[in-house]
Amino acid sequence: MDRRRCKIVATVGPASEAPERLRQLIDGGADVVRLNFSHGKGSDHAEIVVRIRKIEDLLQKPVAIIGDLQGPKVRVGELAAESLALAYGGEFTLKLADSSDAPDVAPVPHPEFFNALTPGAEVKFDDGMISATIVSVGKGEARAKVTAPGALKPRKGINLPGAELPISALTDKDKQDLEVAAEAGVDYIALSFVQRPADLDEARARIAGRTRLLAKIEKRSAVEHLDAIVARSDAVMVARGDLGVEIPFEEVPIVQRRIVRACREAGKPVIVATHMLQSMVESSTPTRAEASDVATAVYLGVDAVMLSAETAVGRHPMSAIAIMDRVIRAVERDEDYWLHLPPILAIDRKGEAAAIAAAATEACRSHDCGGLAAFTQSGATAFALARERPRENIIAVTTSARAARAATLCWGVSAVVMAEVSSFEDVMAQTRQLAASSGLFDRGEPIALVAGLPIGTKGRTNVLHLLDPPPDD
Ligand code: PEP
Repeated sequence: MDRRRCKIVATVGPASEAPERLRQLIDGGADVVRLNFSHGKGSDHAEIVVRIRKIEDLLQKPVAIIGDLQGPKVRVGELAAESLALAYGGEFTLKLADSSDAPDVAPVPHPEFFNALTPGAEVKFDDGMISATIVSVGKGEARAKVTAPGALKPRKGINLPGAELPISALTDKDKQDLEVAAEAGVDYIALSFVQRPADLDEARARIAGRTRLLAKIEKRSAVEHLDAIVARSDAVMVARGDLGVEIPFEEVPIVQRRIVRACREAGKPVIVATHMLQSMVESSTPTRAEASDVATAVYLGVDAVMLSAETAVGRHPMSAIAIMDRVIRAVERDEDYWLHLPPILAIDRKGEAAAIAAAATEACRSHDCGGLAAFTQSGATAFALARERPRENIIAVTTSARAARAATLCWGVSAVVMAEVSSFEDVMAQTRQLAASSGLFDRGEPIALVAGLPIGTKGRTNVLHLLDPPPDD
């Protein structure tokens, strides 16, 4: 059975948000859809959630939705002119203001930014396209000398590489968007520009159990607090767009490997994002380097790879999905992938779910099972099985549509929503029925079923049962 394990996250935008386009995107292989709250109105995003839920019903395919908050991105204010020409070696003023019409002033409406400036610090504009070094700092203003020239346009992003700004990860806009996203029923809220573990505590308190929480790693300080941030997150994104501006680009591949390893050890799904097939925004085929970048992430054992502009505003959103799918499948057909998938050490397996998952994977291999089934209320048991990266299919069997959706972000997991059950006998009977009818398990072979008893108890995984194969008809 040729099932793809590494998942595809597709960002929705003008190129893909029409209902028919969305259906094609999901039918064509997008497992998870990302709504980018940096663009568009909250009500438009809520409408897209409704569309996706209809498509889910139509295709009988659970889909996780990520609501990605803009976060405290520092931006240039409004300019009177179309742009501010910054010539190499020239000096200009950064001023605490919403707007400016002076020819050598860049307004920046964020007091925290000025508090973090020191002479010699590097400031980057427009995703690092323009750079300057701070020469002197006064109250609410600073002089800077241009080191990489360009035309600075209004509202462009500003990065202060390496600095930890005393701003919360949730702006007023984020707080409003978080409410819209949670009430619309997204499955994950992604927090941008996380700087410290406490940022996640604040977001989790606001979310109040309505969705899961995903940390985007795109600041040096987040990399420094990596383990504590991973521990407080339900999933993690290597957000390479901003990360590659905040830290030198040559460090991005090294940090990517570190983040992926930390997530694998902690058993948290990890997504590698941004610029994966960037040239496909215009072109109908990727560069060889892009295909290789996707493959590198897959070989690392990531849970998902993400498309951003390619599916949001690109000219070939469907081809981008199809090509990502082809690259992932090619890697997963390579025996070398399976031989060198970074293993989980016994010391990193903590708790009963991890113990049962390791035992189930081993039993599946020794007993020639046709697949692993996780009966799960929250999805956690399926996540624990996936962490072991077994070759056999993992099916999350659940009575909760929420759990089924959340599990679609997880490596190798297919999720099926079943009718309410009242006993373990019911679970076994329904799993056998599923095996007979769904094509999700290899036919005629036993199934390794894991569950938590008593049925209905959340947060337990304490049973491994080897189910006999259903009779062939
Ligand atoms: C990124 O920076 O890589 C990212 C995913 O964030 P955004 O697209 O919101 O800038």
